[in-house]
Amino acid sequence: MRAPGRCHLTRSTRGGWRAIGSNGSRPCSRSSLSARRRTDTGMSRVVNRTAGTTQGDSAIAAPRSHHDDLLRAMRCRPVHDSPAECSLRSERSSKSIHSVASMTVKRVLIVGGGIAGRSLAVALRGGPWQVELVERDPGRSPLGAGLAVQPNAMRALYDLGVGAAVEEAGAAIHRFEYRDQQGSLLCDIDLDDLWGGLAPFVGITRSRLHNALLDHAPSERRRSATSVRQQNGQVSVTFDDATVVDYDLVIGADGINSAMRHSGIDHCRPVYGGQMVWRSIAPVTSASPHAVQLWLGRDRFFGLCPVGAGLTYGFGNITGARFRDPTAGRRQRLGEAFADFGAPVRDYLTAIADDQDIHCSPIEWLPNVAWRNGRLVLIGDAAHAMPPMMGQGGCMAIEDALALGNQLRRADNIATALDTFVARRAPRINWVRQQSLALTNLIQLPVDVRNHGLQERGTRAFYDRYRPLTDPA
Ligand SMILES: Cc1cc2nc3c(=O)[nH]c(=O)nc-3n(C[C@H](O)[C@H](O)[C@H](O)COP(=O)(O)OP(=O)(O)OC[C@H]3O[C@@H](n4cnc5c(N)ncnc54)[C@H](O)[C@@H]3O)c2cc1C
Repeated sequence: MRAPGRCHLTRSTRGGWRAIGSNGSRPCSRSSLSARRRTDTGMSRVVNRTAGTTQGDSAIAAPRSHHDDLLRAMRCRPVHDSPAECSLRSERSSKSIHSVASMTVKRVLIVGGGIAGRSLAVALRGGPWQVELVERDPGRSPLGAGLAVQPNAMRALYDLGVGAAVEEAGAAIHRFEYRDQQGSLLCDIDLDDLWGGLAPFVGITRSRLHNALLDHAPSERRRSATSVRQQNGQVSVTFDDATVVDYDLVIGADGINSAMRHSGIDHCRPVYGGQMVWRSIAPVTSASPHAVQLWLGRDRFFGLCPVGAGLTYGFGNITGARFRDPTAGRRQRLGEAFADFGAPVRDYLTAIADDQDIHCSPIEWLPNVAWRNGRLVLIGDAAHAMPPMMGQGGCMAIEDALALGNQLRRADNIATALDTFVARRAPRINWVRQQSLALTNLIQLPVDVRNHGLQERGTRAFYDRYRPLTDPA
């Protein structure tokens, strides 16, 4: 008999070995299996130094040498077997099992028209329900400039019938390069080999991705949902015009500061991740038009990602205290902050037209929170906003949408659908969160240690981090 929650190895259909969870459904990598053995000794209790918060076993124990830091940051960590959630979840989910009736979903509300909400609206098309999608700010172009839609999310978009439109609207990416600040190559990953032909890796502007989703989703209504209450199997939502409407199921896809989460599930607040980021799109083509490049400096890095139509998405990331950067003069200040980086970064910054074209924000994420209470469920950043280092937050939101849509169609009753959704998604989300935190720590190591580590083991570690995501979501 297997111990509950342990991985074991089984033959994959491709003839190799793969590790799965004790319930047979949760995939994890061989490296995560050995990492689990290592961390079973209790080594993994950690403190996130930057945010100053305890993060389960997601960061790194102190005191330790830089060498230890490097080894830990390069290493993949185990997938959790179940979501380590706030205590609210266990209290409420046991209550909800009794309070949720069998499948009688007629009216569905999706709150938030970002990547998660629009993907879900596409996933629920043609179902036996009436879907309403509300967005507080429908006309606004999405913040954040560009995005990497990685093959695991492209696979989900193809399942949703939107893949071809997204692929056509973006740029095909084939390589991922880590470079030092002057441009010397530290490690170069062949993404086609890594993802094994699963689906394309696409760089795209956020507005084009949003438009592709909107073309396939029911139209959204301008409305802000402010709070939620549940009684007798109904979810009552209050809107900003003070009207209250009852639904059979409400999905909070309203982002990291989710009002649905706050009023209906959990009061957890986002934490500052110790980095500020400046994102923009500029009309330049990179010398490597099919590669994402990360140029790594001491306390900062700059990323370049082609997004098609002669445009590049650029993101400058600086470690330090949170602050408000006024729009006026932003372009010049950003140019100065990266003035000693290689020519492609400087050329990109020169090509940005205007201060207004640069979006500045703090990097924030959520601690593990509950995703569900009765007939209210969260997806995307509302449930699991995470550090962006894996470039997977939006990808996870798309996968969430597909997975929830599938469960709602398949399950006999709504409680089973929502429970199964959370149980299936949580290990994968936890994996991505842990890897993102590990990468955040890696990037912040002393330059020599980090660069040497990337040269020696960067490619291998990259494969270990992403390979588990080739398994079905
Ligand atoms: C620097 C950085 C780089 C990133 N790079 C990548 C990447 O390359 N690839 C990737 O996959 N992910 C990336 N991410 C993560 C990605 O941006 C997010 O995970 C993704 O945008 C989350 O989408 P969402 O729909 O869940 O939330 P959001 O994008 O926040 O959308 C929420 C929507 O809900 C609306 N809303 C909010 N409250 C209400 C309300 N009360 N009523 C009605 N509407 C409401 C908002 O207006 C908004 O439109 C990155 C993140 C950062 C910070």
